[in-house]
Amino acid sequence: MSIKVTLLEKIKRLVEEGSEAILPKLLETILHYAYQQAASDIHVEAQKTQARVRLRIDGFLTTLITFPVFLIHPLISHLKVLAALDITERRLPQDGRFHMVLQQQRLEYRLSICPTIIAEKAVIRLVNANIEILPLKALGLLTTQLDTLEQVLKKPHGLILISGPTGSGKTLTQYAILNFLNQETRHLMSIEDPVELILPGINQIHVNNKTGLEFHKILRAILRQDPDIIMIGEIRDLETAEVALKAAQTGHLVLATVHANNAWDSLLRLQHLGLPRHALLSCIRLLIAQRLVRCLCKNCNAESCEHCFEGYKGRTGIFELIALEKNAHQDLHELVPPEYLALAAAGQAKVAAGITRQIEIERVI
Ligand SMILES: [Zn+2]
Repeated sequence: MSIKVTLLEKIKRLVEEGSEAILPKLLETILHYAYQQAASDIHVEAQKTQARVRLRIDGFLTTLITFPVFLIHPLISHLKVLAALDITERRLPQDGRFHMVLQQQRLEYRLSICPTIIAEKAVIRLVNANIEILPLKALGLLTTQLDTLEQVLKKPHGLILISGPTGSGKTLTQYAILNFLNQETRHLMSIEDPVELILPGINQIHVNNKTGLEFHKILRAILRQDPDIIMIGEIRDLETAEVALKAAQTGHLVLATVHANNAWDSLLRLQHLGLPRHALLSCIRLLIAQRLVRCLCKNCNAESCEHCFEGYKGRTGIFELIALEKNAHQDLHELVPPEYLALAAAGQAKVAAGITRQIEIERVI
C-alpha cells in the first residue's frame, strides 16, 4: 500500500474515534500527509455543523477531511500550545511558528490564527521545504527566452523587473537568477520580506517594519556595502523605487519584483509611483512577467492517480520577456524583439508540447 493511502486511512480512523485524545496524533498525521502531497498550506476551519481541513496543492485547495465541529476548539488550542501562543485569547488574530520532526526531518511551520464568527480558523504554512532553488533552465522558459535571459545576465548593471500576481513564482525566479549569478568574485545582497530560503554565499536581509528596518532604508545602507548585485523582494513605494533606480544607474545589477499583470505594466507601475519614464528606459535591461500553470501527470497521462491531484502534478512557469536596449527615445513597442511572445502565446507552446492544458493557461492569464 502506498504512503498516501496508508496516511489517509490513518487520518480517517483517527477522525472516526472523534475524541480530543487523538488530536496530537491527528495533527501529526495530517502534517505528514500534507508534506507527502507537497501541500503549501493547511487550513483548519469550522463551518456551522462540521469542521474541515483543506490542503493547498499546486495552488488549489482541496478538502482532506471533515470532522465534528466540537473538536475545532481543542485542535486550535493544541496548535496554539505548539506555537507558544496565548490559548486564552480567542478574539484577536495571533501568529507564530512551530516545528515538527517527520521521518527524521525537521520541518518548520508558520501558524496564523484568525477569529471567524463560528470559531477560530488556523492556517499552517510549511516554510522553506517546498521551495527549491532551480537552475534557470528548469523554470519553464522557452529556449529563446532562456537565451535572452542569459544574455542580459552577462551585463554587469541595470534593472531587471519581474512581475506577476501573488503566487506566480516570482520569488523562485529571483532565487534562480541570484543562484546563477552567485560567484565568489561578486558581492550579492538581498532584501526580502520575508526571507523564504537561505541561499549560501548571499547576504540576505529580512525587512522588519516594526523596528523601522524598511526596504528603502536597508537599500540605502546596502549601497554603502560595496554590492555588485542587489535583489529587492518587491518595490512597493516611491522611496524604494528611487533608490533601486539610482543603484541600477550607478553600476549595480538590481533584480526586483513589482506587482503588475504583464511585462509592460511593470514599467507603467514604476512610472505611476513617480519615476521618470526616460530614466527607467535608460536602465531597465529586462522586463519579465510570469504565471505558474499545473503540469499534467506523466504517471497516469492526466487521468488521476495516487501520485497526482486530479491528473496534475507539479507546476511550471510561463513567461513573457522583453529585453530593452539602451535607447530612451524609442517608442516602447519599437523595442519589442522579433521573437517576443506574450504570456498567452508562451502558454500555447506549453499546451502544444503536452505539458499542460489550455484551460490552465486561461485560468492564470
Ligand atoms: Zn497521475
